[in-house]
Amino acid sequence: MPDPAIENVIIIGSGPAGFTAALYASRANLNPLMFSGNVPGGQLMITTDVENYPGFPDGIQGPALMKLFREQAERFGTRVVDKHVDSVDFSGPPHRVVVGGEEHMAHTIIIATGAEAKWIGLEGEVTYGGYGVSACATCDGFFFRGKQVIVVGGGDTAMEEANFLTRHAERVFVVHRRDELRASKIMQQRAFDNPKIEFIWNSEVIEILGNNVPSKHVTGVRLRNTVDGTEREMPIDGVFVAIGHKPNSEIFSEWLDMDELGYLTLAGKGTKTRVTGVFACGDVADHVYRQAVTAAGTGCMAAIEAERYLEALEHVASAV
Ligand code: NAP
Repeated sequence: MPDPAIENVIIIGSGPAGFTAALYASRANLNPLMFSGNVPGGQLMITTDVENYPGFPDGIQGPALMKLFREQAERFGTRVVDKHVDSVDFSGPPHRVVVGGEEHMAHTIIIATGAEAKWIGLEGEVTYGGYGVSACATCDGFFFRGKQVIVVGGGDTAMEEANFLTRHAERVFVVHRRDELRASKIMQQRAFDNPKIEFIWNSEVIEILGNNVPSKHVTGVRLRNTVDGTEREMPIDGVFVAIGHKPNSEIFSEWLDMDELGYLTLAGKGTKTRVTGVFACGDVADHVYRQAVTAAGTGCMAAIEAERYLEALEHVASAV
């Protein structure tokens, strides 16, 4: 008899990878339990137009897409708990996850914890976070109506944020540390073509300036030229940091292998980690593609692999 205290599958994380794993696991009658984490829906919750998810020829807003993912997984019985997993113990099987002091056991774990925005590391990012400093144009762009803002970074995220911010801000300056963008050509062109966007090349933000009167706000930045080292102050109302992401893998460091950037490394081609019964999918294990559609694809793979592993377990159990 299966032990009812042990779940078949616990899914950690609720982005495209987690919900796709949940969809497949629930349609396979595995009755998955998902802990959605601190940002239910993941990174797409702070994305505006998603134009590259197949099936949406007119594009879709990130939060709307994640609502659909969730509805589809719940339709087949996924139990979604909007809580954060604090720690794990993979010394099993069964494996354990601790959530708000409560321990949950499962034969298989699917890790889909994704990645989150990186910060430059300036004191001003902490002091003025939410008061003029942000990593999410969708969330905070509205507050900069008619104002001047900078976006730090030269990748697709920076271009997307800059373009979006021109809906609200009067002028958007992209500050990039080199004289060449990392962003894809189409995103670059969109930014170059936008008359409200101006590029400040070979520059890095070394300080965020602000004051507390009448309330806490950003007043400017100190920029350093990366070629000749000269510094200058630039008055600005807001700073959007868009310099990439880091994987949410800290709680697994004791148990799983990861690369120097913290991305989980997998055992072979699929989603198996080095721990039996633990699978990883989506951005937490992918520093190369990091797309919603690739995350969803690997979420599907993780669920199929978990299902096959559980089937093999049952055969072993019934043979004993
Ligand atoms: P990214 O491609 O890694 O780019 C990060 C950018 O930030 C780079 O230009 C980098 O400069 C700069 N940077 C990094 N650390 C910095 C620091 N400490 N100070 C100043 N600048 C710093 O990250 P991303 O733009 O977030 O994109 C990640 C992935 O998601 C990419 O594969 C991208 O294509 C994808 N994405 C796609 C879309 C879309 O298609 N709609 C939207 C967003 C993201 P250097 O260039 O000098 O290294």
